[in-house]
Amino acid sequence: MGERTHVRLTRFEHAGRTSLGLVRNDEVVDLTDAGDVPRDMAGLLTAGPNGLEAVARAATAAPRVALGDVRLLAPVPVPGKFLAIGLNYADHVRETGSEAPEFPVFFNKQRTCVTGPFDPIHVPRASNLVDYEGELGVVIGRRCRHVPADRAFDVIAGYLVVNDVSVRDWQVRAPTMTLGKSFDTHGPTGPWLTTADEIAAPEALRIRTWLNGELRQDGNTSDMIVGIARQVEVLSTVFTLEPGDIISTGTPAGVGFTASPAVFLAPGDVVRIEVEGLGAIENPVIEEPPETVTIG
Ligand code: ZN
Repeated sequence: MGERTHVRLTRFEHAGRTSLGLVRNDEVVDLTDAGDVPRDMAGLLTAGPNGLEAVARAATAAPRVALGDVRLLAPVPVPGKFLAIGLNYADHVRETGSEAPEFPVFFNKQRTCVTGPFDPIHVPRASNLVDYEGELGVVIGRRCRHVPADRAFDVIAGYLVVNDVSVRDWQVRAPTMTLGKSFDTHGPTGPWLTTADEIAAPEALRIRTWLNGELRQDGNTSDMIVGIARQVEVLSTVFTLEPGDIISTGTPAGVGFTASPAVFLAPGDVVRIEVEGLGAIENPVIEEPPETVTIG
């Protein structure tokens, strides 16, 4: 069973290629040529326990690379859906001057906003009111519909850290919040996907955000208003959830726009978010590069 502990699945770049890997202490096990391990994260999640068993078998013989020598990438680069919930911690509801919603307020982050755990966050040319939100991300592992709350954890593959980066003026331009939540690079995720069996109590994890080394958020997932199971239940009432879908479960108090004076992300800043047991992501903030119209 020793090989099953610390199942941290990663995608990483090393020596010019992108690979699926398993993080072990300060090394990454390269699963690229590892027998019957699926080739990509969506395939691996879809394979469920069989996929993880293949990983465990392959891990003993597969080559290893020092963690410091690789670039970690978003564990799920193109989730089918990237959902999030608003106003889900009482202290955050208070700091925004809102009322706790009667029904969970879900919104979409467009999946093209997904970026890696250490990649830059852009301050877009369209706005400089860019804010951070440290969150626990849930990754779905099974295709499912109408999942009752008491079975919700059966469909969760694992967890990762999310920064639900938000552009505050665009966020309030429409009730859907979609535009302000979806700028490219505004979905940092990682640093890897920790499988659900490693996290005994996902609703009792400390979650902290630092801006330039200063602690700005210090919450605990035990303070969620709508728990993980209920979120899965509500969402799957409406649509099919699929392996690789990400649900970002809300942010505790301490976001930038409610501080006085308000704090927004600026080029040169560094945002670090750590969730207990899942590791930390740390993204530098840069100006959106001066590219012109892009039409592929
Ligand atoms: Zn959020």
